[in-house]
Amino acid sequence: MSKRIAILGAGISGIAAGSFLARDGYEVQIIEKNKDIGGRCRQFSDRGFHFDMGPSWYWMPDVFERYFNQFGADVNELLDLRRLDPSYRVFFEDGPLDIPANFDELKTLFDSLESGAGDKLASFLAEAEKKYKISMADLVFRPSLSALEFVNWNVLKSLFSMDLFQSFETHTKKYFKNPKLLQLMEFPILFLGATAKSTPALYSLMNYADIKLGTWYPMGGMYELIRAMRQVAEEQGVKFVTDSEIHSFDFRQKEMTSANNGTAKYNADAFIAAMDYRHMDRLLGHESNYKEDYWDKRKLAPSSLLFYLGINKKIDGLEHHNLFFDTDFGLHAHEIYHDPKWPTSPLFYVCCPSKTDPSVAPVDHENLFLLMPIAPGLEDSEELREEYYQLMIKRLESQLGTSIKEHVIVKHSYCKKDFEADYHAFKGNAYGLANVLTQTAILKPRMKHKKIKNLYYTGQLTVPGPGMPPSLISGEIVAELIKKETH
Ligand SMILES: Cc1cc2nc3c(=O)[nH]c(=O)nc-3n(C[C@H](O)[C@H](O)[C@H](O)COP(=O)(O)OP(=O)(O)OC[C@H]3O[C@@H](n4cnc5c(N)ncnc54)[C@H](O)[C@@H]3O)c2cc1C
Repeated sequence: MSKRIAILGAGISGIAAGSFLARDGYEVQIIEKNKDIGGRCRQFSDRGFHFDMGPSWYWMPDVFERYFNQFGADVNELLDLRRLDPSYRVFFEDGPLDIPANFDELKTLFDSLESGAGDKLASFLAEAEKKYKISMADLVFRPSLSALEFVNWNVLKSLFSMDLFQSFETHTKKYFKNPKLLQLMEFPILFLGATAKSTPALYSLMNYADIKLGTWYPMGGMYELIRAMRQVAEEQGVKFVTDSEIHSFDFRQKEMTSANNGTAKYNADAFIAAMDYRHMDRLLGHESNYKEDYWDKRKLAPSSLLFYLGINKKIDGLEHHNLFFDTDFGLHAHEIYHDPKWPTSPLFYVCCPSKTDPSVAPVDHENLFLLMPIAPGLEDSEELREEYYQLMIKRLESQLGTSIKEHVIVKHSYCKKDFEADYHAFKGNAYGLANVLTQTAILKPRMKHKKIKNLYYTGQLTVPGPGMPPSLISGEIVAELIKKETH
């Protein structure tokens, strides 16, 4: 008899978990609070503009390829993927710098900023490639429920070659001195939600992902990934229920028997919480896996202030991805991680997908997405949003030498309160927990409830961590765990 699985939350991790289980004969229902599936990777449209709401960097294409292959599908048939070149543009105080996709061109650029830096980049990346490959082969695909999973000679050998106890900052400074190069190397770990000082050098594997594996974009927008995932999930037999928020549960002895939305009860033999982990803990009340003081001590990745803008003209000077590093990098990081407050002089990121994809904006218009990272848990108000909107637009206008403000015909903001309302995000976090050593592998919130035998967790707050590729992998790991424990 096939076993019934109820998955609570239809983000990337929930859809991935459901697809693997349905493929292997389980009867799977995914129950989602919002009207649309996709979680943080949703899309909305307004007056001919199509805005991706969260992710915009399609990195680690190998992970997506591997995912779809396991269902007999080809990612290149499902998605029209384009490698971006330049990968991105960085605005420093003295002007913009393009990061070419071609490695030889990138080496030349590094040499022009610091003599010999091109060869150093090659050796930095050779080392980063080893970390990436070892990590994918030996470390990442583990539920990390016990340290014993890592007690195996090959794995231990791998762990020792991973630079766990050296900081990313110390590591990069061994190779580069030029401040621009150091910032370029540090930028990918901003995704991981911690400073270079507190991130283990292990994560130089992100530089390999950035530079060697490349920055890609699915034509139509990131939501095309969700459409493809949905198609594959439904082909395996997954059933989606949307607009159905889970509020409570029924139990028999040490087992969960149903998840309830107030009117309907979803019965199953096993449950996967694919929603924000801490929200699930709140719903569980006395049965929570972790208490409030545990959550209060977690280091969260940042929240963000976002603007989705429709512009009624083309804007010269922008690429698809644009990083505004034209102010003090260290100060903004300090105001996110050490002295949480709205930033004095923020760095921000502008995505302009209409540079690559005409379908996301009307003809001769531009689609802009502005993202400014902020500390989680800050006060959020319309006044604060507007203050930083004005600041970012002014900086954009002055860097690009063109007017933008009076060309904005569609404007939506999104910040901490929206993350909380839409996803029940703890402190309005955007990307889950920071990837610091004390929150890595077995030190992350567990994939399995300690007492409720048939309750599992997946998603960016458990292993392996935040980002679309790790969330896909998280879904696969939890599915494997359930298969092992229910057969
Ligand atoms: C602004 C932003 C930019 C990002 N940029 C990138 C990027 O460029 N590249 C990248 O790789 N990653 C990026 N990320 C991270 C990436 O989007 C996430 O790590 C990933 O999508 C998380 O997937 P998930 O399944 O863990 O969680 P979610 O996407 O949060 O899914 C959880 C789902 O659970 C639902 N839910 C919550 N409570 C309930 C309930 N009670 N009942 C039923 N359902 C419930 C939610 O509505 C949601 O749909 C970004 C994230 C954000 C927010």
